[in-house]
Amino acid sequence: MSDTWTPQSWREKPAKHIPDYPDAEKLADVEKTLAGYPPLVFAGEARQLKADLAEVAEGRAFLLQGGDCAESFAEFHPDNIRDTFRVLLQMAVVLTFAAGSPVVKVGRIAGQFAKPRSAPTETQGDVTLPSYFGDNINGIEFVAAQRVPDAERQLRAYSQAASTLNLLRAFAQGGYADLNFVHRWNMGFVADSPEGHRYEELATRISETLEFMKACGIDATSSPQLQATDFYTSHEALLLGYEQAMTRIDSTTGDWYDTSAHMLWIGDRTRHPDAAHVEFMKGIKNPIAMKCGPSLEPDELVRLCDVLNPDNEPGRLTLIARFGAEKVGDGLPPLIRAVEREGKKVIWSCDPMHGNTIKATNGYKTRPVDRILKEVQDFMAVHRAEGTHAGGVHFEMTGSDVTECLGGAIEVTEESLSDRYHTH
Ligand code: PEP
Repeated sequence: MSDTWTPQSWREKPAKHIPDYPDAEKLADVEKTLAGYPPLVFAGEARQLKADLAEVAEGRAFLLQGGDCAESFAEFHPDNIRDTFRVLLQMAVVLTFAAGSPVVKVGRIAGQFAKPRSAPTETQGDVTLPSYFGDNINGIEFVAAQRVPDAERQLRAYSQAASTLNLLRAFAQGGYADLNFVHRWNMGFVADSPEGHRYEELATRISETLEFMKACGIDATSSPQLQATDFYTSHEALLLGYEQAMTRIDSTTGDWYDTSAHMLWIGDRTRHPDAAHVEFMKGIKNPIAMKCGPSLEPDELVRLCDVLNPDNEPGRLTLIARFGAEKVGDGLPPLIRAVEREGKKVIWSCDPMHGNTIKATNGYKTRPVDRILKEVQDFMAVHRAEGTHAGGVHFEMTGSDVTECLGGAIEVTEESLSDRYHTH
């Protein structure tokens, strides 16, 4: 890290996708208040995640990262938190069983509010208003007063993140993640689908295995990891004023950590090496990730690896490829080869969501499940061909019974998309 880095040095750089607040004084007050609030995570936890991710970087574990596109104030409910946690556990157990390797679980949760938008404004009829940027910035309702960025929203987002994290910690450590409950993680609305049945079969095999282990004297008393799990949080570090306010010196190491989450990522629209988001992220010691889309050139990627991970520390940097099903086969190999040639230690993860968005004929933004699956399969195939480790997946997902993608186990059609299309 350069000597000139400070938590606010990003303010000297060009910043994209950060809203203009009309009330600068109120914004400064809110940021000051946040800076005095307790950290949400402890630096030691972020270091533990980095150590777990180092195992992924070395090819000995797999990263599962997922959660809502954007958390919202309206959908803040313990059931929603539980269901997202539950579906992540379910996915992790399937992956652990299938791949026979540990799975590092990272939620897109407890802070995933702010969204970059392709256009700064939205027009409906003859009215144009600022776009919706996430509940921590403005309101989703298409009403002028709601769309004005309001700094007070950051305080509510902090409080929601704190409560969410508190419940997640309780679930992870308090017995909900006990492998003996593996059957209970099957979600009611998928249980009757073919995929739900396949999950039941696997859960039965796990239960039998646990019975066998118990008979051999291995149970939760001798092996507490059967009863609890490590669960980490992450979000896109987009609203840098908030991230700065949450960045603190760790008293045990003297290093700076962004204590708003264990892991933070830089989006595909804000990863310019000389811009504000990269400047901020290079100085914090958390494990970080960066989205890599089709416009990223191999040389620029190498430069970004140098800036973001100058010590080439395994577990520090995850590269989340999000090309789209059509482009990943051609777009990913040059990036992998550049990283390999330069000996960079990174984790390659696949986000099959953000390159596969289409507009259905009825206007809904959606993603066909076939394309999501194809991108994951092609990502895996590219890594097999290159001899590198396909280290993880990054999903926009929810445990709620909603319809946002087309196809899948329950065959959602364009007509049925509107039934339960809930997304911020
Ligand atoms: C996201 O993950 O919410 C996102 C906007 O992704 P990307 O930066 O890859 O477009």
